[in-house]
Amino acid sequence: MNGFAKNSEYCFFNTLLQLPGIIINDVHVEESRIIIMAQTKEKYGTCPLCGKRSHRIHSVYCRTLQDLPVCAREVFIKLQIKKFVCTNPRCKKKVFSQRLPSGIRRYSRRTGRAEEQLTQLSLEVSGRKGSWISKLIC
Ligand SMILES: [Zn+2]
Repeated sequence: MNGFAKNSEYCFFNTLLQLPGIIINDVHVEESRIIIMAQTKEKYGTCPLCGKRSHRIHSVYCRTLQDLPVCAREVFIKLQIKKFVCTNPRCKKKVFSQRLPSGIRRYSRRTGRAEEQLTQLSLEVSGRKGSWISKLIC
């Protein structure tokens, strides 16, 4: 199967991903990888400094997260993440990134389960063998 997934298939990928708080916008299935274009569900952000909610979007950036492979295809989630403007005039934080859905750690380039699998693999197998095996399955 090559090309873009149909709307009915998004439901399948949503069920497969099990990442609450994410909306799938598009899925592109290639011969060796699956690319999932997604965004977070939250329409507002909560300032980490003053706690005030903001709907005022400053910018949007895209982070690529590697997930566990499916049917021998690498899976990448291209997640749009919003930055909000803190509207509290007394707050020192002017711009902040929205909280990420559970299962995705801050600054991470992998989903939590992909990181967990890589960590387990590293603990079980050390050195070159671990690196070699991780290239096969991650
Ligand atoms: Zn604030």
